[in-house]
Amino acid sequence: MKNERGLLIVMSGPSGVGKGTVRKALFSRPDINLHYSVSVTTRKPREGEVEGVDYFFRTREQFEQMIRENKLLEWAEYVGNYYGTPIDYVEKTLAEGKDVFLEIEVQGAMKVRRAFPEALFIFLAPPSLKELEKRIVGRGTESKELIENRLRAAREELEMMDEYDYVVENDEVELACDRIKAIVIAEHCRRERVAKRYKRMLEVE
Ligand code: 5GP
Repeated sequence: MKNERGLLIVMSGPSGVGKGTVRKALFSRPDINLHYSVSVTTRKPREGEVEGVDYFFRTREQFEQMIRENKLLEWAEYVGNYYGTPIDYVEKTLAEGKDVFLEIEVQGAMKVRRAFPEALFIFLAPPSLKELEKRIVGRGTESKELIENRLRAAREELEMMDEYDYVVENDEVELACDRIKAIVIAEHCRRERVAKRYKRMLEVE
């Protein structure tokens, strides 16, 4: 029987909420059956980051060519750099019946929503606005002006919660991972998905 298509899971949320940390913790679990879509970016690799594992690092010219050739499912410009999701990997993996996980910022998530309305959208939320501000300021590497910009953007991004299917509070990384795992399991049990399979079985017998 033909494979059922995998689920496309999009995790997004405001700047500073800890998306990268939650994603890494989720994928370090031994029992997780998700396939991470590695993004393309024009930002420079940080220490320890590996080409093809953390990102595909490209020049602006290369990235713009990928846009022109429709090789990206979505892309966005974030703090002066491009970030995008290669479409081929997503299509191929979903067609093989495997679940694909994207960890992207909110503008990109909204583009995916238009292209894949059937995807599962999870909003990672801070326990409080105060906590979010603390995390943004706490990175400590940025100028006052940049911090102000990030805080403003994060407040606006919080309002985008309405566009998502689920909200996961990131009060503790491991708890946030448990919640995401539970959501994915539940989504696989959704009547619409399961009923299709039974319908096919009944037709065969
Ligand atoms: P960082 O530079 O810290 O790795 O990532 C910056 C932001 O870009 C994060 O919010 C991350 O979720 C987002 N991001 C990473 N990959 C993609 C992508 O492919 N598309 C979009 N739209 N955002 C991405």
